[in-house]
Amino acid sequence: MSDETKPVRVRFAPSPTGKLHVGGARTAIFNWAFARANHGTFILRIDDTDPTRSTEENTQIILRAMRWLGLDWDEGPEVGGDYGPYKQTERLGIYRQAAQRLWDEGHAYPCFCTPEQLAADKKAAQDRHDPFQGYQRRCRHLSCEEAQRRIDAGEPYVLRIKVPEDRGDVVIHDAVHGDVTFDAKELDDFVIFRSDGTPTYNFATVVDDAMMGITHVIRGDDHLSNTPRQVMVYEALGAPVPMFAHISMILGADGKKLSKRHGATSVEEYRDAGYLPDAFVNYLALLGWSPDGETTIVPRDVLAKTFSIERVSKNPATFDPAKLDWINAAYLDAVGDAEFTDKVMVPELVRAGLVGSGDDRPREWLLTLASVVRPRTKHLGDVAGICSMVFGTADTLEYDEKAVKKGLAKEGMKLILVAASSKLVAIPDDGWTADAIDAALDPLPDELDAKKRVVFQAIRAAVCGNLVSPPLGVVLELVGKSDALARITRAETMAK
Ligand code: GLU
Repeated sequence: MSDETKPVRVRFAPSPTGKLHVGGARTAIFNWAFARANHGTFILRIDDTDPTRSTEENTQIILRAMRWLGLDWDEGPEVGGDYGPYKQTERLGIYRQAAQRLWDEGHAYPCFCTPEQLAADKKAAQDRHDPFQGYQRRCRHLSCEEAQRRIDAGEPYVLRIKVPEDRGDVVIHDAVHGDVTFDAKELDDFVIFRSDGTPTYNFATVVDDAMMGITHVIRGDDHLSNTPRQVMVYEALGAPVPMFAHISMILGADGKKLSKRHGATSVEEYRDAGYLPDAFVNYLALLGWSPDGETTIVPRDVLAKTFSIERVSKNPATFDPAKLDWINAAYLDAVGDAEFTDKVMVPELVRAGLVGSGDDRPREWLLTLASVVRPRTKHLGDVAGICSMVFGTADTLEYDEKAVKKGLAKEGMKLILVAASSKLVAIPDDGWTADAIDAALDPLPDELDAKKRVVFQAIRAAVCGNLVSPPLGVVLELVGKSDALARITRAETMAK
């Protein structure tokens, strides 16, 4: 059992065999939040012992994603710490020493069985309907002398852990799943070191977790079945077993495990699609955890204060892109026009090539634009599309098909545009504001004896080239008087 009084030390231990995915990010967030809520230490460790699938490039992608998510780690790559190195490939000597110790103390033994021998043993077990079809412990009872003789003769061997004969049930006290019982008889004398001199995951992880003083292991429940084996390693090492918390899978809307089929799965893709990291962290934190079952906006600092494993659900969580969008929009909405302008809108406009990097529009103009763009933005990626029509000029404006068909190419539209022009021309240049524009256009429907919707649809189509833009008065103000009039003149040629 874990010692509740020890300072909390948790780790996130991704394998750099791919990018950081939504599930991994959620595990990282839970570990980070648990550490922060308990004034503990959050460790990042790179589990790169699978040399065929781990790459340095993936490690860098993971570190970047962690930084983007704002999950600062107290020990790990780039920041160091007292228990390093924090990459498993740099710890091979440590694993070797630990394995040697288990061997010397009789908790591990060399096994010389060839793959053919293992396959034959398995087949025989199947044929005799033996409920146990794992390793038949053939080399467990070799004498030290014989083992040494075969090693000296250059025979390849692996190291296996010696699961105690009388171990009985292994009960995992899981903070999420409760007590989970495994029968030790079902546990193989599993391999802890391969014949190529590399440690297996179940061994390296426990050596690290034990040496790094990890008090709580919070990870995906795909690792629950590894846990009894890992407990065997803790016991062989004589190290305290940490508290485990295996968190549920994340499912797609169809109830299947979240995967590429459901859309974006890597953190990078969400960053590039324009989600705010704070919103993304908030959303992922709610996949399997909730402060009270209702609250959906949980800012990072609140998460860092209130997170508790007791409120983690053992049921699978469903990834709901609509909820993520809703939360993202709520965060965008909460930032205020000035912050939205600087942090979101201008960078997006620069990215889309609509303004120069030194933002070449007056500050006031940008703030006015932000006031109408912000409430309409669900993702950063929406920004350019929402406001592209205020950039450019009457000559470059593109009219979409719907705007032409519904707003312009109908009988009587030209008349409306001509009347609108004469109202707008009358506004003094220095009084060209959204309020003045709205006031000037307001009497038009009555004067023309036309429906309000029809009148404003025509003007909107003429000035914006679409029918869905932000409020008309503001758009006209932002476009400027002479270009607004030029746009209407151009549209008159398309109107009936
Ligand atoms: N490296 C493992 C993985 O990426 C995690 C191991 C663990 O948390 O124990 O799945």
